[in-house]
Amino acid sequence: MSSPIYLDYAASTPTDPVVADAMHQHLCLGGNFANPASRGHVYGWQADEAVESARAAVAQILNANPREIIWTSGATESDNLAIKGLMSRGLRTGRKHIVTSAIEHKAILDTCAWMEDQGFSVSYLQASATGAITPAQVQAALRDDTLLVTVMQVNNELGSISDIAGIAKLCRERGVISHTDAAQSFGKIPVDVQALGVDLLSLSAHKIYGPKGIGALYVRRQDGLKLDAQVHGGGHEMGMRSGTLPTHQIVGLAAAAQLMHDEMAEQTQRIGALRDRFVSHLQQMPSVHLNSDPSVCIPQIVNVAFGGVDGETLLLALNELAISTGSACNSASVEPSHVLTGIGLSRALADASLRFSFGRYTRTTDIDQAATYLAAVLGRLRQ
Ligand SMILES: *Cc1c(COP(=O)(O)O)cnc(C)c1O
Repeated sequence: MSSPIYLDYAASTPTDPVVADAMHQHLCLGGNFANPASRGHVYGWQADEAVESARAAVAQILNANPREIIWTSGATESDNLAIKGLMSRGLRTGRKHIVTSAIEHKAILDTCAWMEDQGFSVSYLQASATGAITPAQVQAALRDDTLLVTVMQVNNELGSISDIAGIAKLCRERGVISHTDAAQSFGKIPVDVQALGVDLLSLSAHKIYGPKGIGALYVRRQDGLKLDAQVHGGGHEMGMRSGTLPTHQIVGLAAAAQLMHDEMAEQTQRIGALRDRFVSHLQQMPSVHLNSDPSVCIPQIVNVAFGGVDGETLLLALNELAISTGSACNSASVEPSHVLTGIGLSRALADASLRFSFGRYTRTTDIDQAATYLAAVLGRLRQ
């Protein structure tokens, strides 16, 4: 059997060789191996310089100040820090209400559930049929005691885009802090923190051809926003996140972000054409329902429901495709996807849905082969 065709870029991406190369310069003797916090020798200074130039590069891409970038272990940690880090502010000001959506990543939903255990209350907005959360919905949910609104920019199961600028503007008017999980949007659509107006923004390297285990949280400084550290010790990252900085990981994140940024226009067009091609193949097949509306989604993600088949059976039968049912993080559970039921799909249809996600190494032949194979397997299963 040949290797399965990889169509799971929304779960993770292979590290780009250019990125891996840059990382390798910061690991071994002769490279930038030292602790960036070592102030007493040139090795430390050089490592610090690499970290700071990565910080400047990421800040520039986000249109932020370098002092507003906090390195974390990934978007999960960034989301945790963004939300839990506001705990003491909430307690001090008596603002103990959070607004989020029912289709967020578990890194947000589980953190919000934990905040509820700590005495905060959380409103979970229901998404539209296309998977979008609107400023009007947020406006209706805001209360005098709202501390934070956290809504993802692009949904990881559907690819749907929400109007974060509109949401953040409302928040600003009401003195409410705004956060967005940009793990699926960063590098694929413009993510400019000034244009968006958000106070906090999470991103991750391994969704953009960088290494796993590194991410960042943008923290707007102009209003003196300060988060409670969740990891203590040493006071790194302006006291918000301690731990020796992983120079190679940070350099990898910056190199990956730069590549995404430089290639965004070209890749959006190329992958858009692949997505359209895949969708037109799907439209030739019977009982196919597109959960992702191409007009409001990034081209990298297509979520599809297949009528008349069982999802798990279908996924197992499709062993020549590397894909997932919704989010990889949920694949251990037998519950239907909370995102698909969240946009109003029946349990049966949610169970029979698959997420195809495309990326830098996806070729036209992959799309054609995957579609031909899919049609054959569906035909067999439906007999
Ligand atoms: C992948 C992902 C995360 C988790 O990021 P990690 O870096 O793997 O912790 C969070 N939110 C969204 C939307 C994601 O797609």
